Amino acid sequence: MSVEIELRLDNDYGSLGQSTRSFLDSSHGFHIGGKQVRAASTYALQDPSTGQVFAHAGQARMLDVADAVSAAKKALGGAWSRYRPHQREACLLRLADLLEQHARPLSEIETVCSGRLLQNTLHVDVHYSAHVLRYMAGWATKLSGRTTPLSVPYVPDGELDGFTFREAVGVVAAIVPWNVALGIAIWKIAPALAAGCTIVLKPAPQTPLTALYLAQLALEAGLPEGVLNVVTGSEPEVGVALVRDPDVDMVSFTGSTEVGRQIALDAAGAFKRFSLELGGKSPVIIAQDADLSRAIPQAAWAIFANHGQNCCAGSRLYAHARVFDEVVDGISAIAESITLGAPLDSQSAMGPLVNRAHSQRVLAYVQEGIREGASLRTGGQGLDHPGAYVRPTVLAGVSPQMRVVREEVFGPVLVAASFENDAQAVSLANDSEFGLGASIWSRDLDRVRYMTRKLQAGSVWVNTHNTLDVSLPFGGWKSSGMGHDLSEEAVLAHTRLKSSVHHYLQTDTTDLT
Ligand code: NAD
Repeated sequence: MSVEIELRLDNDYGSLGQSTRSFLDSSHGFHIGGKQVRAASTYALQDPSTGQVFAHAGQARMLDVADAVSAAKKALGGAWSRYRPHQREACLLRLADLLEQHARPLSEIETVCSGRLLQNTLHVDVHYSAHVLRYMAGWATKLSGRTTPLSVPYVPDGELDGFTFREAVGVVAAIVPWNVALGIAIWKIAPALAAGCTIVLKPAPQTPLTALYLAQLALEAGLPEGVLNVVTGSEPEVGVALVRDPDVDMVSFTGSTEVGRQIALDAAGAFKRFSLELGGKSPVIIAQDADLSRAIPQAAWAIFANHGQNCCAGSRLYAHARVFDEVVDGISAIAESITLGAPLDSQSAMGPLVNRAHSQRVLAYVQEGIREGASLRTGGQGLDHPGAYVRPTVLAGVSPQMRVVREEVFGPVLVAASFENDAQAVSLANDSEFGLGASIWSRDLDRVRYMTRKLQAGSVWVNTHNTLDVSLPFGGWKSSGMGHDLSEEAVLAHTRLKSSVHHYLQTDTTDLT
């Protein structure tokens, strides 16, 4: 059954707010040391809904990257180091307020760059980001060390106290992808600032503009010049130069496993701290006792939200043989009811993928799966339109060795297979190089407990999927990453421990006067 397309597929720029339009029309360079720096050359940004060029962004050279890192290093030893914890907290709280005050331009710019729905960029990149900033703001005043009375045997005289201090790790290179560009930038920036670090942010080539807008808001929020710098560019060399700059102390990366591996090698070789949030191929397990009235629509949402461009998209479905047909038919029917349309249009339920090259790659995975014997239940096509649209797709009867099952497709493509018992479900789910998220749909507590313990994933959701709370650590196992975003863990990761020993020879404190 084909989807009836009634909505317009091209973004209507007439619907954009005045501040969005003037920002898009302005020339974009870099944000270094609190100033807007002109770019010597630029590259074109294309609207994913049409392929048309709508703006240009700065192409950073090695010199620009070095300038940004040196501004961050200077700021680390400058006014920022004298900000007390409550002043860092106040900056983050003001930034959260400013994000919400600028919700319209931020979400519209993100939508035009990425093709993501306006309601999605508004909620995820703006409102959820403000929530993350407020949570992280609180940590600025709560970082502390410990005091321990010591008993070093080879220091017999006097008394010893031991202290630990948590100090900011230093200059952080934050390198982020396009799929939730502003939101993930905030995940990186907020804990780094709470800990007292300074930052060079490098957004993805497709989505550079909200990072530049954010940098302006950060100044307004009271962050001193050079605390948050932004460099942009279309080539991997910009990220490589940033990772390799000797004055970068930590790399905080979200992106593909392939690039993450390269960054790990570079950073480890220079003994830099690094945190990697990488790709996924997350399983959704629907047991025979699941409440299908919830599991079916939620499994559809797990894969089709954000057009399947989610790191923890529920892209592999395993349903018990007894309910398999009902589940796959239900998800396929939902897929067919999803209206594709321009991302700025509030009626659209799914917009284009990030660009035409990506949509072609996604469709090639589907075709290969079909050639290898998968059965196409719905979708599997683009639209006769220059936008990067891909119809929501369901492939059933897949086997574990198919590429479409093993590799991250990063589009609205669900692969489905059945299982006979819990052990087989877990074994199918764990048969992956990735380990980001997994969900279990069941009403049986024993089954839930068994699977929760056995699944190899950084996040296991029960009767929900991709539910991320800022107070819980989020990070991948296996090829899905190292380290964590969100929660206290993310703040601690931006600190380094120093221990200090104080030796007191005068032990009687009663007659010190
Ligand atoms: P990508 O790895 O191609 O790029 C990510 C960023 O790294 C971009 O800013 C890019 O310019 C930069 N980069 C590219 N090559 C580099 C290099 N050699 N050194 C340093 N930087 C380099 O990823 P993408 O296509 O932008 O995003 C999609 C990927 O991100 C998917 O794999 C997705 O699963 C992953 N992702 C993971 C999470 C998570 O939290 N685990 C969240 C969102 C996205």
